[in-house]
Amino acid sequence: MKYCRFSLGNQIHYGAVEERKGELWIIGPAEAPEEDLAFRLALERATAEGFDFEPMPMSAAHLLAPVTPSKIICVGRNYRDHVKELGNEMPAEPLIFFKPPSSLLKPGGTVRLPAASTRVDFEGELALVIGRRVHKLKPDDDLRGVIRGYTLADDVSARDLQKKDLQWARAKGFDTFCPLGPLVSDEVDPMAGVTIETRVNGEIRQQASTLDFIFPIPMLLSFISEAFTLEPGDVILTGTPSGVGPLKAGDQVEVSIAGLGTLAHSVEGDRD
Ligand code: ZN
Repeated sequence: MKYCRFSLGNQIHYGAVEERKGELWIIGPAEAPEEDLAFRLALERATAEGFDFEPMPMSAAHLLAPVTPSKIICVGRNYRDHVKELGNEMPAEPLIFFKPPSSLLKPGGTVRLPAASTRVDFEGELALVIGRRVHKLKPDDDLRGVIRGYTLADDVSARDLQKKDLQWARAKGFDTFCPLGPLVSDEVDPMAGVTIETRVNGEIRQQASTLDFIFPIPMLLSFISEAFTLEPGDVILTGTPSGVGPLKAGDQVEVSIAGLGTLAHSVEGDRD
């Protein structure tokens, strides 16, 4: 299963995605996720033709962030090399923080560099999407259905504010600081190892396998759900590998994992 979310005319749609001749296509409507109440309400009211659309290449669609989470939970320091590059101690347990849903940015969108910061970094990350309500999972619980699928994110971070503020809410939470997408897929297996790559202006800056995680996904889910009930559509960013660096206006960022496509975004100054 692969799906994306996009707008067409005045309507938001969920589209089933398939690869055709090396290109990703939206082939028809995808099942409506239970967390998107506005969409489900619109679906109830819609006439049959209101939700019909012709198949189209994903590259031609006006993509939106593929999920509408109640919360975005992030894991800091989950790749050994990234812990070393920031000069931090190897963590004994996961470090978690939030990004607000208002920080979500659609694929192909523009990250705005806030005036309050002089150092904003990219952090390419694998994100997982929760499929059903869970809490207090155990690391060896059956995760079928718990993870709906995977997508890509950039955990954009104002590094100077992260150091200055005691809480990371501002550093991690500005509007546009969570590019997410372009699709959700359950056809990749990060627990068996997938390679994540981040390019800035076409140049590879991050490249790592999810086998380098300090805390594997079942352990993260157990740790996080010990504290928070996870709802369908909630998103967990699993941490970034080494190679993070500052963004400047005009940069083009691409985060990719084979099977999840490429999440691209641009960068613009908001400092004047
Ligand atoms: Zn991060």
